[in-house]
This record gives sequence, C-alpha cells and structure tokens, in this order.
Amino acid sequence: MTPSLANLDGRAVLNFGASGSADVARASGGRFGPSPAAVLDDWAAFLSWSESVDPDAPPLDVTRLGPPVPSPRQVFAIGLNYREHAQEAGYDTSGLPQVFTKFPSCLAGPVTTVPIVSPRLDWEVELVVAIGERCRLVGEEAAWDSVAGLMVGQDISARDVQLEGKSPQWSLGKSFPNFGPIGPFLVPTGSVVNREDLRISCRVNGDIMQDSRTSLMIWNVAELVARLSSVVTLFPGDLIFTGTPAGIGNRREPPRYLGVDDVLVSEIEGLGELTTTFTRELP
Ligand code: ZN
Repeated sequence: MTPSLANLDGRAVLNFGASGSADVARASGGRFGPSPAAVLDDWAAFLSWSESVDPDAPPLDVTRLGPPVPSPRQVFAIGLNYREHAQEAGYDTSGLPQVFTKFPSCLAGPVTTVPIVSPRLDWEVELVVAIGERCRLVGEEAAWDSVAGLMVGQDISARDVQLEGKSPQWSLGKSFPNFGPIGPFLVPTGSVVNREDLRISCRVNGDIMQDSRTSLMIWNVAELVARLSSVVTLFPGDLIFTGTPAGIGNRREPPRYLGVDDVLVSEIEGLGELTTTFTRELP
C-alpha cells in the first residue's frame, strides 16, 4: 500500500489511514525528511521507499495537521476553468487559461479557522496539484509524470478586495492568512483512482453549494502543467490550484457570503475533506 504524505508539527509523516502513521525521518533513519519540503525535493526515491514502510504510530488526528506542502516556491491558481463557473462569473471561455497566484503565506492545514476580514468572503473548492520534479517545457503526454500528487484545496476569496482597483486584484484578494487550506494529505498520483474524473463538492453548514466533477475542467491537469511550464520553470512542491466549478456565493441570487460560525466543508472523491470554520476578526 502506498501511504499518503501529511504534515504533523512541521514534520513529514506517512498516513496509512486507520492502520496508523509513521514519522518519515525516524522511519528512514534520516534519509528523508524531516520537513515535507525535503521529501518533495527527492520525490521519486521517497515514493518507492514509502511503499516498504509499515505504520509504527497511531492514526493521525487531522485537526493537528498543517498543509502537506507548507512553503512551496510557487503557487499557481487558475481562474475560470469550468464552463458553468465562467458563465456564472460573466466571462467567456476562449483563449488561454487565466493564471494568478495565492501568495504562499495564505496556506493552511485541513482543519482551520479563518477570520471574517471582508463582508464578501466566498468559497471555491479546487483540486490542487503538487509538482514532483524540477521541469520546464513539459509536453502534455508526459505531464502527469511531473506531478507528485493531489489534494483538496480551498481558494477562499475576499470579493471586495479581489475586484477593487483599476483592474482586478485576484492574487491579493485571495491571499489573506489561512485563505488557502490544503490537504488533508498529499495523495500520490499513482494511488488516485480515476484521477481525471473526481467528484468535487463543498457544503456550507451542511448545504451543498458546489457539486461537480474534475473531468469538466476546460484545461485539464496535463494541459495546465504543459502551459505553465512553457513559460516558467516548475519546482518540486510547486502547487497549482486548478480552478473552481459553479456555485460560488458571489453569483447566487441573493449573494451568499461567509459569516461568523459558518462551517465550510470541501471534499474531493478519494482525497478527503477540509473543514474551515469562520470566526470574528481578531483584534
Ligand atoms: Zn479559484
């Protein structure tokens, strides 16, 4: 069984689900880890080693986990990558993918709280791709070979900050602290059944807000890796937030924004779920 990768107190940990866990640095005698970033830098060797490890610690408590990739060099985010969402947002879907960033300081673990920093706080559940090797000019056919694994992500967005100014400030409006929960684990691509067609959904206080499939992306994962790497060098641990399906709060009638005590649960088939609770802004 190939375990997935988690971040427990800043240390890389193997997750075997109900069977338990194992600290990567301890189990490997210091060959891999202890930081999750070091594991990503040596991903292929780590992956084959991890298949021979047995759990030696209790199952992980997800409320204690940090982001599986805590400090990527680059975070790419894709806008308008599902047709129905582009239509609800009032954009056409022709041309190249819309690329922006979520600054890495916004990344958070799978169970986290987010202060209400805006009266127009919105959700966007997304499939997140972690890159597994340094690469550039990757062809579509080989693109999945450059991907380490997949996670659930939330592209939490302050719509007022995102849309203010002369032209939209997407990156800034989506980068307040904890606006980028990811996890709960980094699942190696080889362990994901039907990796091109996963149910993706999110609920607010139990009500389903988004419910789609990743096969409905306009630009699929391979096309996104090829497109991004045609311009920039990709590094191990770089993240791609691949865009959100229809059902955001901003385009509802009437609009629905996140408020104090709302609980947002974001889920992708086979990858797990994130729980984000919204709180009064701290003084
Ligand atoms: Zn998004």
